[in-house]
Amino acid sequence: MCATCGCGDEGATITAMWGHRPLAGDARAKDGQPQSGHEHPHTHTHDHDHDHDHDHSHQNPPTETIPLEQKVLAKNDMLAEHNRRWLVDRGILAFNMTSSPGAGKTTLLERTIRNLGSQHRVSVIEGDQETLLDADRITAAGARAVQVNTGAGCHLDAEMIERALHALEPDTGSLLFIENVGNLVCPALFDLGEYSKVVVISVTEGTDKPLKYPHMFAAAGLVLINKIDLLPYVDFDLDLCARHARSVNPGVEIMPVSATKGDGMDLWLQWINARANELDATATQV
Ligand code: MG
Repeated sequence: MCATCGCGDEGATITAMWGHRPLAGDARAKDGQPQSGHEHPHTHTHDHDHDHDHDHSHQNPPTETIPLEQKVLAKNDMLAEHNRRWLVDRGILAFNMTSSPGAGKTTLLERTIRNLGSQHRVSVIEGDQETLLDADRITAAGARAVQVNTGAGCHLDAEMIERALHALEPDTGSLLFIENVGNLVCPALFDLGEYSKVVVISVTEGTDKPLKYPHMFAAAGLVLINKIDLLPYVDFDLDLCARHARSVNPGVEIMPVSATKGDGMDLWLQWINARANELDATATQV
């Protein structure tokens, strides 16, 4: 039970998906299959060992929810820091991709994987309540993926990512995209150990999304405004949306893109490469 929003996050399953073609330099993948001898896709179902308090009453007054929420988030933050150290130690650059449902995260990742080509080895943790559909699309685009199905849960948490990382085993020095469950509320609160959050909003949504969901936009390192090829057909003010985003996060970078047509993808890839250089510089200083 997520004490923050009341959704269930128990019974999450992780399914490992392997690419349809071996990745360059990937010692595990030959002929599109890992050398471990595992059959794929396969599903790991884990028994949870949560320390969550389940003895609270749902009739309890709201004042008792606050310390429980703080406890849940404190435990998540501790696990997220563990994930962050695990990733940094391996030089893995991780982005937590968040959006409303239908903003185009998966399409953006498909195009990103194809455009990056051999520049970076890429793997993806896909978060959805149900189905393997997005992980199938990612593996078809050429990256390895694991699918986390959250059941009734509306967000990924750091524990799910820890388990997914052990199933995925991303290569040292690679890129990792975490496609969060489509939701602009709870994912803002749950640090996963990523290097940066990237919020995707599309022009088919309201210009005022950053004002309605300020926590998500305040936590972002980059806002991608997707589907700009549809601007002639919708009532969306690009400049006003950017001003709204900067009103809650003054330093945030904002990039208009079209994942289907390719507009703005070069700047997005430049931004990724700049973050990779930052991570390399940090590692050199340590
Ligand atoms: Mg998706």
